Amino acid sequence: MAKQTPMMEQYSKIKAQHQDAFLFYRLGDFYELFYDDAVMAARELEITLTKRNNGSSEGIPMCGVPYHSAENYIKILIDKGYKVAICEQVEDPKTAKGVVKREVIQLITPGTVMESSMLKEGENNYLASLSHFTDGSFAVVYNDLSTGETRIALITDGWDAVIHELYSQPIKEIVVSSNLPEQLQTQLKDRLNVTLSYQDEVNFNAEYRNLSENINNDERLMKAFSRLLNYIQFTQKRSLDHLQKAEVIELKDYLSLDMYSKRNLELTETIIKKGKHGSLLWVLDQTVTAMGSRLLKKWLERPLLSKTRIEKRLDIVESFYHGFMERDTVREALKSVYDIERLAGRIAFGNVNARDLMQLKKSLEKIPELKAALYQFSKQEMTELADALVYPEFLLDKLEAAIVEEPPISIKEGSIINDGYHEQLDKYRDASRNGKQWIAELERKEKEETGIKSLKIRFNRVFGYYIEITKSNLHLIPEGRYERKQTLANAERFITPELKEKEQLILEAEEKSVDLEYQLFIEIRELMKEHIPELQHLAEVVSTIDVLQAFATVSETNNYKRPSFVDNKLHIKNGRHPVVEKVMKDGAFVPNDISLNEEKHILLITGPNMSGKSTYMRQLALTAIMGQIGCFVPCEEAELFIFDQIFTRIGAADDLVSGQSTFMVEMLEANHAISHATDRSLILLDEIGRGTSTYDGMALAQAIVEYIHDHIQAKTLFSTHYHELTALEESLSHLKNIHVRAEEDNGNVVFLHQIKEGAADKSYGIQVAKLASLPAPLIDRASTILKELEGGEAGKMQHQNVHEEHSIKEEQNSQLSFFIDSSSEAITEKQSKGEHKVISELKNLD
Ligand code: ADP
Repeated sequence: MAKQTPMMEQYSKIKAQHQDAFLFYRLGDFYELFYDDAVMAARELEITLTKRNNGSSEGIPMCGVPYHSAENYIKILIDKGYKVAICEQVEDPKTAKGVVKREVIQLITPGTVMESSMLKEGENNYLASLSHFTDGSFAVVYNDLSTGETRIALITDGWDAVIHELYSQPIKEIVVSSNLPEQLQTQLKDRLNVTLSYQDEVNFNAEYRNLSENINNDERLMKAFSRLLNYIQFTQKRSLDHLQKAEVIELKDYLSLDMYSKRNLELTETIIKKGKHGSLLWVLDQTVTAMGSRLLKKWLERPLLSKTRIEKRLDIVESFYHGFMERDTVREALKSVYDIERLAGRIAFGNVNARDLMQLKKSLEKIPELKAALYQFSKQEMTELADALVYPEFLLDKLEAAIVEEPPISIKEGSIINDGYHEQLDKYRDASRNGKQWIAELERKEKEETGIKSLKIRFNRVFGYYIEITKSNLHLIPEGRYERKQTLANAERFITPELKEKEQLILEAEEKSVDLEYQLFIEIRELMKEHIPELQHLAEVVSTIDVLQAFATVSETNNYKRPSFVDNKLHIKNGRHPVVEKVMKDGAFVPNDISLNEEKHILLITGPNMSGKSTYMRQLALTAIMGQIGCFVPCEEAELFIFDQIFTRIGAADDLVSGQSTFMVEMLEANHAISHATDRSLILLDEIGRGTSTYDGMALAQAIVEYIHDHIQAKTLFSTHYHELTALEESLSHLKNIHVRAEEDNGNVVFLHQIKEGAADKSYGIQVAKLASLPAPLIDRASTILKELEGGEAGKMQHQNVHEEHSIKEEQNSQLSFFIDSSSEAITEKQSKGEHKVISELKNLD
């Protein structure tokens, strides 16, 4: 190999330790990238690729970004899931012998971003770590470095549960052991779309003992937590003082929503557009602060199971709901509260500037207003909240006394600290001000004595202070009065010994005052740092207040009602779908009742396509979730049941990533529900079985209902277009038929969106096709075929088959009979031939 220059030798050594990151190598005012890094960065960042000489070898690919604008480029790479290693000169080039020493001072990765420009305001940015153990359990840690929050959960029911848990958390990066089986690593990457990082060496650092207080006696949790800490230390290489104690999440304390349900119910983002608009979060997010918005998302991910905790939230929401004047005051005050949680993070991290401290000051100043507004309610729960709004008040006094109202961004150029805050600083400032005044006085005097009106005393960095006189006035200067310093095209510049003396004093005073300001600023920052836990606690209370006032605000705007919680029954009067009603014209949404109880806990819903079956089903799940996070719910009256889990098989959101067919996904989701649900769970199954042939589908659908009915007793809503299934009401005592009413008007279907008892009389498929503007001749043909089918052999057979099925069930009480009965197999064939005509007719159309 050709010999490298010493600098490139240094580069190669450092790069070898950071293979998986772009190495930003500091050279003067630039960060340079070399070799493959350069080629890839040039492409990703759209910057020019050049070549650099390297000893005797050929030129090597190189590109660079200016030091002062590096943040923007880093952000682009991080957003794309890459890592960036920042390599700085760590000794003074003037005193260095040979190549200046360089070191990686920080590894920026998607999960460890601290810079506010790279973070989304209302969203957490999680770094997670995952550890697996020989007993088959897993431990997951979430950490948001920007807020210091750390949560940890133990998952004992297998790998699937891990994926369900991690899914939809705002995770950017997961740290795992390289021993984690390859296949699982791939699943993490593909299903969760995160950056995978490895940390194999796991040592617990005693320095962080206080952070692990809650988990000290669980080896597994400690291991996962240490993996995370080790990785953070490796990447950040600095103080982690703002990390909060690891909080254990007991998964059994929360309503469990599997990944399918979170997606299908569009809690925080919609399926198709992946955006917040159109999600439940979109309706509920009337929070005012970024902290509140983040907390709301967390609550939505984990609705509660404890009635006491739910009622406590509801009590506060109710107070806010009725006390709208006070609520307004609270909202107004919250508007001036900045992101205290992230400010605290940056104080600890050491990258706050005076403007950040100003934001902290303005936020703290609002606390008394918030407290006063809460006391005004004269309600115990509100007084408790107000009492919890505490922080060391001398911090505010300090900030008010020290920091100027509008400080600059830089903390190294002075103009940060108030006059009167520090005696020595005042002295320096006086000296500099006096000196400047002396110079102004000198200018006046010289003008007068020489009679040169255009005489000016100016300052520049090279010459310091000087007297400038234009060429045309030079003859007016008395001999020997000034010392010539510089000649310009149309002026001369002069100095005097006295001027230089004053200059010395001013510059010294200024330099000292800038240094002192920096020192004072660091002192203040360190003081704030000592009180980070208190600031974090304050942030937590403020965000809780924000979310609860938001609940009251949406509940008032949208006319929601406080639910009550009862055991083993559920009744909602005139319930509505919180999102659908928002996107419709006011009052256009048709409210419906729903009742579930021990007697009837499976509802079989029939009705034409597009009539509102799945809306009705989702409406129940969303109402339950809203209730269990402590919000009022969209209805006139609600008695809710506290569900332990919600499962859904709704809609056609195919799992494109995993490459599975619609039918396979349908079966996976159904299986997931059936294998985990209890009699306290809610299961929503929307037209299960439609992904396969009619008879297969119907058979599976029926078997699933029967299984839930006989073995699980979960509260279940089951919509189907297999009318034959409505006959199940006779054999399954806990099942009840309901349907969505539609009317026919002159061959056109009119949707009433009203839920009625009993089964639907017909499916109106052709009428719906007509609504979709299929060509008239096609609709006519379909109607003819339908009549033939209904009147003909196949139609009769179909009916008969269901009938037979029931008699068989009664005789043998066996669900399998449906599949093995040879006569029904024969019918299947005939039926499928009959059906084939319609299908092929439709298939030939664009
Ligand atoms: P289905 O599941 O029966 O095919 P959907 O639940 O998807 O039907 O509803 C179809 C459309 O009907 C919805 O997009 C909505 O616009 C409207 N809709 C549903 N329920 C109602 C309702 N209760 N009131 C008013 N419009 C409704």
